[in-house]
Amino acid sequence: MKAHIVGGGFGGLAAAVLLIRNAGASGADITVYEANERMGGSFSMGGSAETGYILPCGSVFDSEFRCTFDVLAHIPSATNPKKSVKDEFFTFNTEHPFRDRAHIIDRNGQKIHGPHFGLGLRDGFDLARLSLTPEAKLDGRRIDEFFSAEFFDSEFWWLWSTIMGSLPQHSATEFRRYINRTLALFPDLSDMTNVLRTPLDQYEAFIVPLVAWLDAQHVNLLTKAFVRDIGLAPLSDRITVDRIDYERDGATTSVAVAPEDLVLVTTGSEAADLSVGSMTAPPQPRNSGRSWALWKRLAQGRTDFGNPDVFFGEARIKDSRWITFTITTRSDEFIQQLSTMTESEPGSGGLVTLKDSNWVLSFSVLHHPEVIGQPDGTNLLWGYGLHPERTGQYVTKQMSECTGAEILQELLRQLRFDKQLDAIMGSSICIPCDLPYVNNIWMPRKRTDRPPPVPNGSTNLGVIGQYVEVPLDVAFTIEYSTRTAWEAINTLLRDGPAPPPVYQGQYDPKALFNALKVFLFQ
Ligand SMILES: Cc1cc2nc3c(=O)[nH]c(=O)nc-3n(C[C@H](O)[C@H](O)[C@H](O)COP(=O)(O)OP(=O)(O)OC[C@H]3O[C@@H](n4cnc5c(N)ncnc54)[C@H](O)[C@@H]3O)c2cc1C
Repeated sequence: MKAHIVGGGFGGLAAAVLLIRNAGASGADITVYEANERMGGSFSMGGSAETGYILPCGSVFDSEFRCTFDVLAHIPSATNPKKSVKDEFFTFNTEHPFRDRAHIIDRNGQKIHGPHFGLGLRDGFDLARLSLTPEAKLDGRRIDEFFSAEFFDSEFWWLWSTIMGSLPQHSATEFRRYINRTLALFPDLSDMTNVLRTPLDQYEAFIVPLVAWLDAQHVNLLTKAFVRDIGLAPLSDRITVDRIDYERDGATTSVAVAPEDLVLVTTGSEAADLSVGSMTAPPQPRNSGRSWALWKRLAQGRTDFGNPDVFFGEARIKDSRWITFTITTRSDEFIQQLSTMTESEPGSGGLVTLKDSNWVLSFSVLHHPEVIGQPDGTNLLWGYGLHPERTGQYVTKQMSECTGAEILQELLRQLRFDKQLDAIMGSSICIPCDLPYVNNIWMPRKRTDRPPPVPNGSTNLGVIGQYVEVPLDVAFTIEYSTRTAWEAINTLLRDGPAPPPVYQGQYDPKALFNALKVFLFQ
């Protein structure tokens, strides 16, 4: 058996590990085709201390990423090969837990933190009602159909929407999944105690060791290889891939696929059409559509492959775009001022959200070093705007049209660091990053809008990633992509261990009790 994996994001790389580990495949029989210059998909990093680092992603994990940690338990860490990536991750989080002391801050610089996260009894009832509503009744419905207007101005909503990315107009189905899947995090949402993060940026912590391990297994890792088409054998009632066409270095190559071979296709990317700006230039929008082009081709004229238009295309961007930014700073004063304001040691606090900033700016000072080789005295902040379509209060432009300098200026003025503004601007580099589809997994959807890991009638084709339907789990995670890969491999090969069940807080007495305590007593 040969295996062809389209997409070298976390999901595609995890699929290769699972094929070797669970299905006994030989590494040399596996090829991963990745359109970008590097493996890693949405988890990328770039830049330097001199030019400014570029870290497009945040870092939000919990201990119930069961498929992910099962895979990472087998991968030696890149910095300490005696340890697995999983062990390294948990050791780091035990030694450096988040202790966010100022999470939501209002226009007066006051911390917002009150009893029950500002939720009333009615909100508790509405949350419980949604949690208990079967998904079959939520097709196409929005979160704001289930809650009062006050709910969306509660401390809980600010915490939730800025950690998880949800907006009132987003999918009630996905919100319900989040309530159940992450219930155990609920009592500590404000200080983020049980939210976990990578010891280094996600690319270096996860992707580098995965690629090194797969390389050592002789997996063919083809970068700059864009799979343009997949040929299907002409059988009326079955779907069997017999050919893959990919473009690389200006040439198109066709690879024959046998009926017993396996093809796993990543059907899209949250980082689709990502573009990076600079201190002096805003990110230039890209409209390549490449990351979901293959899904579109597969779905054309078929009903079993879902509906890519629900997630991708110009019309989706207004409810899905974030502008993220990475600040590389040599200003001690900046870091000290932030520490004083948030009462947190640099790198120990999670997200800080300036809830009254028009862009709804959230940021965190990252643990040092976040990147291998990061010089002493150089610190990194990562942040994003949940509403980049709005005009800033100090820089009167949409965030998506701003240079890094303008974003940094708006942030500093929102923080009331006006006195230090010139000094901080002079010793910091802010690089903005446009992610037009980052939040598209939150689009209101029907159950049939994403195909199952093995579409009906398929004999050797599986689909993996965030735009694939598996029950219960939440899609804005590497866990989801790993789970879809595991399901697809298991279903197609009818062999190997089944994936672990998805954690469900509503059936966990401890999580339920702790959540109830917040409503009744805290
Ligand atoms: C800003 C941001 C913050 C995030 N924070 C977190 C977090 O804290 N915790 C968490 O768990 N997750 C987080 N995520 C989500 C996480 O990045 C994704 O869940 C994960 O990367 C999905 O993996 P994937 O392999 O399915 O897709 P991707 O990582 O998106 O990779 C898909 C790859 O497929 C390639 N591809 C697509 N079509 C083709 C083709 N035809 N030919 C060749 N290659 C193709 C693309 O180029 C891409 O590299 C975040 C994402 C972003 C953007």
